[in-house]
Formats: sequence, structure tokens, C-alpha cells
Amino acid sequence: MTTQAKRVAIVTGGGSGIGLAIAEKFTQAGIETIIVGRDANKLKNAKEKLGEHCYPMTCDLSDLKSIPSFIDDVIKKFGQIDILVNNAGINMKKEFQDVTDEDFQKVITTNLTAVFAISREVVKQMLTQKSGSIINISSMAAQYGLPKVIAYSASKTAIDGMTRAMAVELSPKGIRVNAIAPGFIITEMTDKALNSDPERKAKVFNRTPMGYMGQTSDIGDAALFLAGDAAKYITGVVLPVDGGNSIGF
Ligand code: NAD
Repeated sequence: MTTQAKRVAIVTGGGSGIGLAIAEKFTQAGIETIIVGRDANKLKNAKEKLGEHCYPMTCDLSDLKSIPSFIDDVIKKFGQIDILVNNAGINMKKEFQDVTDEDFQKVITTNLTAVFAISREVVKQMLTQKSGSIINISSMAAQYGLPKVIAYSASKTAIDGMTRAMAVELSPKGIRVNAIAPGFIITEMTDKALNSDPERKAKVFNRTPMGYMGQTSDIGDAALFLAGDAAKYITGVVLPVDGGNSIGF
């Protein structure tokens, strides 16, 4: 029997929701998985759930200056980085005219600038390894117009563009870059939001050909696929995992 070589992944925002489900799939596949977040307690609970292949590390990614030393620490501890999942993200729901410059910048810093900054630091290491897989978590907000989430939509649309730009520059050097665009996925937040708004819920279901919402594990499965050798000829794609929502009529 051949044992698979050690693989090391970073999943930002891996303490909850979609990030936790991605980290769960990775650890089950034997990937050494570093989960990054701001809340040490939340990460500790996730570690208890995920077990021996999970390593919680705290970092506030919106503090851009802390990112290079954070990645240095990871490299010192683990020696390599094979997979980066840029999943951490925030949203802010407000009417367009009420969004302040500070509101807008806050979302852009976490959802876009921090993704750039951590990717840049990780790419420096991946270039020495001549291999790597980066997966950015985008959104349906980048595929069609959603009201009241202006900064979020701007950030996720930029993520799609950055995914393609990174892919053309880095793929010749052995680093694949892809994105996943989750459709409507059941999390605590979406569950509450949709159950309190039956009209919006009906709208979501009407334009989702598969007729039901996705599970966080569906995104985990897609991330595990894109991270590994089964996707070795795939780069620069934005993969909708959405029950057909993006092509629904
Ligand atoms: P979530 O709030 O459960 O997860 C986001 C995680 O990111 C949290 O653990 C949070 O602590 C972490 N995070 C936020 N800011 C951070 C920072 N500055 N530094 C470190 N960690 C930080 O939400 P989720 O639904 O699991 O969302 C995960 C990703 O999926 C996000 O990028 C979101 O935009 C995207 N997404 C979610 C859905 C959905 O239906 N749930 C749909 C489309 C896209």
C-alpha cells in the first residue's frame, strides 16, 4: 500500500459554516488542516469536532500587517503549504444610499484585500514548492444583481476577476487557482434570514431547478475535489455549487 504524501492546507474562517465543512472534508482525507479565525474559543470547538488533523490558529485577517508573520509561523510549524482556501468573509445588508465609506471599506478589506494579501504570502512559499492549489470562495452575488449588498457584491465580483488573473499568472508555475460560487446554502444565518422572509424564500426556491438549498458539506466536497489531483487540469474556473440557481429561470 502506498501512503499519500503529507499535504498541508489553510482554511480561513474554518471555525464555522462553510469553512468548517471544508475543513471537515480535508481532515477526513488526511490533510493537515490549519483553521484560521479571530475567535479562539470557536476554533477550539471546531478542533474538538475535527480531531487530530486540525490545527486552530488565530489571526484577524482584516489586520493586513499581521498576515506575513502569520504565514511565516505556519511555514515554521508545518514546513509547506499545499492548499489555501480563502473562505473567511463578512456581509453587510443596507440600502445603497445608507452605506458609508467606512462600511464599504470594511467589507472590501476582509473579503478582497485580505484575500489578496494572504494569497501573496502563500504564493511565495508555493513558488518554492512549484505546486499549490488556491480556492477562493465567491458568491452568487458576483453572478447576478442582489439588492442591499453593494460592498459584498463588489468584493465577490472582484474575487472572480482576481481568480482568473491569478490563474493565468501562476498556473505556468504549478499553482492552480479556482473559485467556488456557493448558491443558497443552509447555515444558521441563511436559515434565520429566509425563515423570517417567506417571499425571499419562495424566490430562492423558484429559481433553483433542484428545488432545495445546499448543505455546507456540498461546498466541502467541491473544495476537496478542486484541491486535489482529480482537478489537476482545472484552473481559473468559478464553479457554481448551487443546484442550478445561477442558470435558473
Ligand atoms: P460564517 O459567518 O459562518 O463564516 C465566515 C467565517 O469567516 C467565520 O468563521 C468568521 O469568524 C470568519 N472571519 C470573518 N472575518 C474574519 C477576519 N477578519 N479574520 C479571520 N476570520 C474571519 O459564514 P459562511 O456562510 O460559512 O460564509 C463563508 C464564506 O462563504 C464567505 O466568504 C461567504 O461570503 C461565502 N458564501 C456563503 C453563502 C451561504 O449561503 N452561506 C453563499 C455564498 C457565499
